[in-house]
Amino acid sequence: MKVLKGGTLIDGTGAGPVSGATVVVRDQRIEAVTTRAGGDLPSEAEVIDVSGMTILPGLIDCHDHLAMHGYDLARRWGIDEPQSTRALRTAKVLQDTLAVGYTAVRDAGGLDAGFKRAIDEGLIAGPRLVISLCIVSPIGGIGDRVSPSGFSCCLPNDPLLPDSVVNSLADVRPVVRRIVRAGADVIKCATTGGASSRPGHGPRDGAFNLDEMQALTEEAHALDRRVMCHALGGRGLQIAIEAGVDSIEHGCYLDEEPELLDTMAERGIFFVPTFAVYEYHRKSALAHVRERAQHLQEHHAESLRRAFAAGVKIAAGTDAGGHGHPSNAMEIECLVKAGLTPLQALRAATGWAAECLGLERDVGTVEKGKLADLVVVAGDPLNDVAVLQDHAHIALVLKGGETVANRLAMAPR
Ligand SMILES: [Zn+2]
Repeated sequence: MKVLKGGTLIDGTGAGPVSGATVVVRDQRIEAVTTRAGGDLPSEAEVIDVSGMTILPGLIDCHDHLAMHGYDLARRWGIDEPQSTRALRTAKVLQDTLAVGYTAVRDAGGLDAGFKRAIDEGLIAGPRLVISLCIVSPIGGIGDRVSPSGFSCCLPNDPLLPDSVVNSLADVRPVVRRIVRAGADVIKCATTGGASSRPGHGPRDGAFNLDEMQALTEEAHALDRRVMCHALGGRGLQIAIEAGVDSIEHGCYLDEEPELLDTMAERGIFFVPTFAVYEYHRKSALAHVRERAQHLQEHHAESLRRAFAAGVKIAAGTDAGGHGHPSNAMEIECLVKAGLTPLQALRAATGWAAECLGLERDVGTVEKGKLADLVVVAGDPLNDVAVLQDHAHIALVLKGGETVANRLAMAPR
């Protein structure tokens, strides 16, 4: 039994902070959350004094690319180093991500099911994973890997990351089934281009027709998989929502279609904005990427504010990978800069994020009966949310009741 005693609790439900909180952990789960001083603890209890610190649910990133390590072509295609080196590089990212308080991550493409298995078996440390393997798109969409010179990817097909390019309507269901067979928990697809996609396939340029997207969502749902859809704006964004995807990823130009926000709120479609990635795209060496990222910046922030006002649930995602793996909590600060309060931004990275992933019965909030995924922060994130990016301030991380990082002795009080 572990007892975290005397901290300020932000429980992830959206409720305000509670000081003098005690969280009792037995085995994997939270047994009690109380503000009583409680002198009736069993003698074997490990009491951890966290006074002056903040207790949060384990943080969640709903859009990451843990196995991606750069935007340049050779890195993206994984041909710049041996596969084993690349796999170990990814394992290191998984370990580091957990150690800074991210106890659950949804991978939006690139990570194969072997990493999840390795974590489950205890071979490596890492967050709880919800994986998509690859990005389903039609020919010419963002899942279609063709170089600027027109050549196809030179890698032999990896059976763990099945071909995700849809040639026609008849192709949609088999592609979804193969991805699920290879171990996907969620289906990732794309109905528009993005900031970093090829010239001519930008944020408002569509991919997929409505009938194809309807087949995709129907098939995914028939296999009990949610659909996370990369959609920035225009016709592709409308089609994704009409087809009934479960989350809109990026969603930068949602502000241009307020009626879509009402539909999202009604149907419980989550909005996963990804502000962090565009900070990097705005500094891209490629002019078309830079321009797109600059153009969408204000729209993205306005989309967040309008979505929140319309009652759409927001879930935090970084889209990390291409720009490396800086602190995932950078996104929480971006959400605050774009208009959420720190408390709302924290909910987007905890309680709402767990709902977006379908894991809300087990994680996302600090409540009796939930898995003990907890982060203790030396500082007050409501006062300065950037403290979450400072690893020295992430004093303690528990995943399923197990201590996976402990910097309590060094943490500033
Ligand atoms: Zn992405």
